[in-house]
Amino acid sequence: MILADGAREDVFRALLAEGKLPHIQNEIVKPGAYAKGVTVFPSTTGPAYFPFLTGFHPGTLNVPGIRWFDKAAYANAAKKMVKFRSYVGIETFLINSDMEKMPTVFDLLPQSFSIFNSVCRGAGRRNLTKIMRIWYWYYAHLTDRWEFLDQEALAKTLKAIEKDFRFLFVVFPGIDEYSHLAHPHHDKTIDHYRFLDDAVGKIVSQLKEKGEWDDTLFWIVSDHGLSATQSHFCVNTFMEKRGLPPFYYPKVFHRNGKKVANMVSGNGMTHLYFKNGHDWGAPTTREDINQIDPTLIEDLIQEAAIDIVAIRNSEGGVDIVSKRGEAKLKLLDDKVAYSPSPLEPVLSEVEGGEGRGEGKDPFGYKNISGLLSEKEILDKTIDTDYPDAPWQLAQIFKASRTGDIVLSATPGYDLRLKYEVPEHKGSHGSIHREHMMTPVATNAPLPQKYLRTVDIFPTMLQLMGKTKSVPSDGILLL
Ligand SMILES: [Zn+2]
Repeated sequence: MILADGAREDVFRALLAEGKLPHIQNEIVKPGAYAKGVTVFPSTTGPAYFPFLTGFHPGTLNVPGIRWFDKAAYANAAKKMVKFRSYVGIETFLINSDMEKMPTVFDLLPQSFSIFNSVCRGAGRRNLTKIMRIWYWYYAHLTDRWEFLDQEALAKTLKAIEKDFRFLFVVFPGIDEYSHLAHPHHDKTIDHYRFLDDAVGKIVSQLKEKGEWDDTLFWIVSDHGLSATQSHFCVNTFMEKRGLPPFYYPKVFHRNGKKVANMVSGNGMTHLYFKNGHDWGAPTTREDINQIDPTLIEDLIQEAAIDIVAIRNSEGGVDIVSKRGEAKLKLLDDKVAYSPSPLEPVLSEVEGGEGRGEGKDPFGYKNISGLLSEKEILDKTIDTDYPDAPWQLAQIFKASRTGDIVLSATPGYDLRLKYEVPEHKGSHGSIHREHMMTPVATNAPLPQKYLRTVDIFPTMLQLMGKTKSVPSDGILLL
């Protein structure tokens, strides 16, 4: 399984159609399939690797972002527990101990190997780039030589498949990194897609030489899309100006007088956690937040940078608010109760609050409401701007480490003004189509034209002959 970090579904599909990915087209897609994949929310490196390696949503594993805050742990001064986390930099590997203890692919498949991947619990010595990964990244970051990392990913893959291997997961980071530094359609970014295609050609021919190609199941996947960023919006400053000073990375040692924690992921989404009176411990609902700051939600929505605001409500569900309207959702076993508000949109005068009569759905959906199965949600929303959003939001709010409010940025904006060197020109993390859609190419003949990336894990294990079913959030595709 190759994870082309940050590969966009539409770009990948267009390059395939133009014949610019000939190895992938002829060796993988032709005998197999190409499908549109919906990643998990937040659409960010690390948590969005979970589907491929565990079959679970970030919400199920209680790792709801690359940064998070644990309100209950923070409130409990006596207990030595992890109270907040950022996987950016040196803490990257702690993701493995923070995840709920479900088995990973490395636990389930003995001879399985991991290259340039931080989600590797159970891999032990089969993680072929253990500490090295950080230094490679650091080097590439300083020198801007991401080609070198993709070349290393290929070299290590060719070496690993010489072994008696059962499963190999390798990350090619070039597309993601160049998309952040330049933008997702930049020539240099496209060069990395073509490098990937050459790499696939080399891997396939080596497997053919070994006589193993006919027995090899191959996947090329991605963890998120990416969109060009024109404007940065600082949630910290916004909160500070309202008398709600935030606790945030990297300034986590400044804790006195903080009333909010702000934990950004992929720069396109963030979790906000509120201190409720004197207490950080309990979740803070929309009703509580209205007590703390009566116009906060409305003022957030007024901001061009803020697309979707999702808030815990007192009914055990989630309120979703956008410039278009409002909805309530609640996860009920394997279904989601979804009800767009029959009331006028919160901002009835906002332009673009299209067709007031029916345009009250926060995602702009038409005629989607009621008790919906996970399949119905995917089928009805796949071609909208917010594929799978009710299902994805229901999943992330399962996590106790999810914020009281989750913000998703408008494409073109990110939610982090400072502390990003060099400046990011591409972002992901949001629940918008631009970030949620990913390519899935496989030499297995999948009938689906679209799927969730969590479905790949159980399907892959089945195709590899693991007949004993393993728990996962996904469904079998075959
Ligand atoms: Zn990524």
